[in-house]
Amino acid sequence: MLTLHAHRAPYLPAAGQHSKSRWNGWRTRLSNVQAVHRNHLPEGYISMDTLASTPKPNGRALRAGDSEDLAEKRPSRAEAEEAVRTLIAWAGDDPSREGLADTPSRVVEAYEEFFAGYDADPYDILSRTFEDVQGYDDLVMLRDIRIESHCEHHMLPIVGVVHIAYLPRDRVVGISKLARAVDIYAKRLQTQETMTAQIAGAIDEVLQPRGVAVMIDALHECMTTRGVHKPGTTTITTRFTGVFKDDPAYRDRFLQLANGMRAVTVR
Ligand SMILES: [Zn+2]
Repeated sequence: MLTLHAHRAPYLPAAGQHSKSRWNGWRTRLSNVQAVHRNHLPEGYISMDTLASTPKPNGRALRAGDSEDLAEKRPSRAEAEEAVRTLIAWAGDDPSREGLADTPSRVVEAYEEFFAGYDADPYDILSRTFEDVQGYDDLVMLRDIRIESHCEHHMLPIVGVVHIAYLPRDRVVGISKLARAVDIYAKRLQTQETMTAQIAGAIDEVLQPRGVAVMIDALHECMTTRGVHKPGTTTITTRFTGVFKDDPAYRDRFLQLANGMRAVTVR
């Protein structure tokens, strides 16, 4: 919610333009306020709700570089470390004790790794396509691409695998580029549903294949280590476009390959 406030506040009218009660209540009625004032938003403004809850029209997710306002609001490293100290104290420990002295710095470094996807663009990666495929016109499928992501609700790990297939029209992409694009989406705060749609959307838009199929099978630590405590429960999400959506034979072939026996045993 802090980011929401930070992002929205500059676009909200001055307090005097509202009745006092509406102004005082705006934090709890952000959506109402936004609805009332939507017509006053600057051209090109995209609400944080839209950015957070849906795949972008072009499949791109929020990045620091997407908005100068967000980039300006990005806290310093020292502020981030201070926030970790606050959480340690909130947990009930003493952030200044010896064993915890370097923890904020380590946590911030881990965050740089966990969320490296905000600084990269999957579209750039996927744009490096190969056009000469010697007439190859059958499925290209990558199976069991490991993903490590974090849920946007609890900031806890989502760990699993992605299976991707596409039916090329005239372009193929290096298979490592597909895995790299997956990583970029994974290294952001995510929901599994959004990530599935974003991966399929980016491949669809850049390669313009005859169809794309994406399946993610992942374990959410917010399901296993807190809340309902259901270890071993995995979540499966799928997204099909083109022939995979329209033709059950292609969809079945993808599902068989995704779930079937592994021909190659070397891992
Ligand atoms: Zn969660």
